[in-house]
Order: sequence, then structure tokens, then C-alpha cells
Amino acid sequence: MIDTQTSLYGLIGNPVAHSLSPAMHNQAFAATGCNAVYLAFCLTDVVGALHGMKALNIKGLSVTLPYKVTVMEYLDNIDATAAKIGAVNTIVNIGDKLTGYNTDSQGAVAALQAHTQIDGKSIAIIGAGGAARAVGFGLAPKAGQLTILNRTRKSGEQLAADLQSDFLSLDECRPERYEILINTTPIGMHPDTDASPLAKKAIPGELVVMDIVYNPLQTRLVKEATERGCRTISGIDMFVFQGAHQFELWTGQKAPVEVMRRAVLSALGDKA
Ligand code: NAP
Repeated sequence: MIDTQTSLYGLIGNPVAHSLSPAMHNQAFAATGCNAVYLAFCLTDVVGALHGMKALNIKGLSVTLPYKVTVMEYLDNIDATAAKIGAVNTIVNIGDKLTGYNTDSQGAVAALQAHTQIDGKSIAIIGAGGAARAVGFGLAPKAGQLTILNRTRKSGEQLAADLQSDFLSLDECRPERYEILINTTPIGMHPDTDASPLAKKAIPGELVVMDIVYNPLQTRLVKEATERGCRTISGIDMFVFQGAHQFELWTGQKAPVEVMRRAVLSALGDKA
């Protein structure tokens, strides 16, 4: 029930109509008995929105494109990992002070750890964009060897230097060299669902393959890697775990991860 004690949380971005976050967080609040609601705000005035966050005592916000970098200069504090990544996807408002976090990093690590051991492993990340930075900074302290594979050499080499990892052009990808491979590019995302960053015959069955694309739920890469005998992890896992970490930062309570997963799968079904 919404009453005078209800706390407000939300998402800021543009566009936001496709977002699965309202379904995920509202179900999480309901399941844990939190008197809170989560709304999506499609906006153009991000500075006004952050003033509004303080003025209206909005307790927490998710931040999506195109504001993940822009918001940083208007926050009171930035968490160390978010500062290294250079992007914020979560804001916590405590005592009128706004602190920025990046939960994509922990979301990716938790998604992998739910399926496999990552410490000391040889890990390849395909892509060098915003998501690759978050995944890379999460994995770098744990991986035995980390390699960035990217289409464009300059951005790939820059990320590899920031992570103190190796770089190879995507054309030079030899999947048999790695134990874990993660696609962080939009290759295979709706509507280009026939695309995959790897040829099926090049995927060794021993590889653990994670695709952070979650629309479709099973990308061509995930389907073909499964057919080759690989352990596979879909983009939903990272999305749910990054949301679970947001929930915990905002409420201080343990996130109901399975409830959140079901809410996302149901919302995805509705949107399909
Ligand atoms: P981004 O910053 O635009 O980066 C895109 C990366 O993909 C770049 O490295 C780009 O390479 C590469 N790329 C794009 N198209 C390519 C193609 N046709 N062939 C080869 N490489 C290509 O995007 P982002 O923010 O990192 O997001 C990437 C994907 O991650 C999106 O699909 C997004 O929905 C998904 N994502 C999922 C989650 C989750 O929770 N599951 C979280 C965040 C993002 P160049 O450098 O050569 O351009």
C-alpha cells in the first residue's frame, strides 16, 4: 500500500520505456515488505533531476544511458570502483548526500561466480565499451590472465592498459586459449539475433561462455556454445545481480534474487 511513509526510488535515462528495472525492483520491495515504489523517469534535464532527488528525498536512483558519465560531476561522493570505471549506474541518497556506485561490475562477477570459479582463470572479454570497463574492473583483481578482444584497436588497447591486461584484435580471437569468455558487445542483440562474435566451430566445449546481452534471452552465442557442450551464462544473470546489489545498497536488506529473476523473465516475456 502506498502511504505517507512510502519511499521513492527510480530510474533516470532516455529512453527508459524498455527497462526491466521497475518490474524487478517493485517485485523485490513487495517480496521483502519494503514500503517503497520504483518509477522510471525519461528525462532531458539530468542536473534538475539530481536537485529534485534531494528536494523530494528520493532514496535511490538507477542511472542508464546517456547519463552514466554525466551524473558523476553532480554527486557528493563517488565509490572507488565507479571512479575507476568512469561511470555510475546507481545513486544512493543518505542524509542529503548523493553517492554514486557502479553495480554492473559486481553484477558480472556474481553472475560468473554463481556458475564457476573465476580466481586465477584465463579470461577473455570481447568488447571495450562501457559494459566491458565495468566487467573488466570487476574481474581484473581475480583473473589469472585477462585479455581484451576488440574490433577497434585504439579503444581496446586503452581499456587493456587501464586494466593492466592484454589486448588482441577481435579477428585474432582464439577461444581455446581461455577458460572463460564474456561477450560485452551488442552483437546478437535484437533485432540482429543471427549475429554472433564467434564461429560455432571455434568454440571449445571446455569454455565457460557468458553473454551480457539479454534480449533475446538466449543469444546465438549462448545457444551455439551450449550445443558445443559449454557451460553458459545469459545476460539476465548479470542484470539481476547488478539489480540485487542496488537493492542492498538502497535498503540494507538482502536482495530476494530469485524473485527479481522471475520478475525480469516475466517482464521480458511481456515485452517479447
Ligand atoms: P558501448 O559502450 O557502445 O560498447 C560497445 C562495444 O561493442 C565496443 O567495444 C564496440 O567495439 C563493440 N561492438 C559493437 N558492435 C560491434 C560489432 N558489430 N562488431 C564488433 N564489435 C562491436 O556499449 P555498452 O554500453 O558497453 O553495452 C554493450 C552491450 O551490453 C549492450 O547490448 C547492452 O545492452 C549490454 N549490457 C548488459 C548489461 C547486463 O546487465 N546484462 C549491462 C550493461 C550493458 P568498437 O570499439 O570497435 O566500436
